[in-house]
Amino acid sequence: MVPDCLFCKIIAGQIPATIRYEDSQLVVFEDIDPQAPQHFLIVPKKHIRTTLDLTPDDNEMIGHIYQVAGKVARESGFADDGFRVVNNCNTAGGQMVWHLHFHLLGGRNMTWPPG
Ligand code: AMP
Ligand code: ZN
Repeated sequence: MVPDCLFCKIIAGQIPATIRYEDSQLVVFEDIDPQAPQHFLIVPKKHIRTTLDLTPDDNEMIGHIYQVAGKVARESGFADDGFRVVNNCNTAGGQMVWHLHFHLLGGRNMTWPPG
């Protein structure tokens, strides 16, 4: 756990969140400012700052994130209609929380190009 990291604090239970899924590697909780009718954050329990800090040791965990994205999308009822998984990396990519996470957005038609 990294001090002053918001998502480390959520993972440690020090800040409340609505948890939708949890296992030994990941936690999935509702985004506090949803950008779609259903908006979850898939967050590795290991503190990794950005996508650029991933190493080959993380390959299995990244694959697991996409398995869990599909599982949560199915269980939430928007898998067949369609959904989006987004990772924002660094400032121009829109990253605001410096603990790796993937947005899972569903429940509406997504637009392209993204903003
Ligand atoms: P990003 O801009 O990709 O770093 O995404 C950070 C996300 O974290 C945003 O969508 C925020 O709405 C979300 N967020 C910030 N604080 C919280 C919180 N306390 N609980 C849940 N989601 C949060
Ligand atoms: Zn962290």
